[in-house]
Amino acid sequence: MENMFERTLLIIKPDGVGKGHIGDIIRRIEQEGFIIRGMRMVRLSRDQAADFYAVHRGKPFYEGLLNYVTSGRVVLMALEGEDAVSRLRRVIGATDPAQADPGTLRKLYAENIERNAVHGSDSPENGVREVAFFFKEEELC
Ligand code: UDP
Ligand code: MG
Repeated sequence: MENMFERTLLIIKPDGVGKGHIGDIIRRIEQEGFIIRGMRMVRLSRDQAADFYAVHRGKPFYEGLLNYVTSGRVVLMALEGEDAVSRLRRVIGATDPAQADPGTLRKLYAENIERNAVHGSDSPENGVREVAFFFKEEELC
């Protein structure tokens, strides 16, 4: 099958920002050949976080996840590239850093399954939806 040009959302989560890994992560994203179309630092509100992670509502980790992602500043990045969604997921590694492959962002920078340094969209549809959740089309260039 042909490679697809895709959009995906990367979030550097509060632990990644707090421990000073913004630069490390951006460097890796550039080295991996993603096109950075948009980038912004924000502090998520409880409502924004609840909306963004609505798919996890009701799960045992949901409240902890909302507390965590609203606990500090995050960096939002709208990325594009061939197979951007699955490629970014590979660069990020497994949700639990203990299970993540060597050299992945989560193996390098995450603390545990909750405080896992970064978010990446999990499908091309969600990539489009999640980028649009945070960026207006005219903010992407
Ligand atoms: N999470 C957690 N405990 C779990 C599973 C997930 O705290 O058992 C948190 C973690 O921060 C994760 C986020 O919830 O990144 C979203 O979970 P998901 O299963 O979508 O993992 P991801 O797609 O981020 O790898
Ligand atoms: Mg997910």
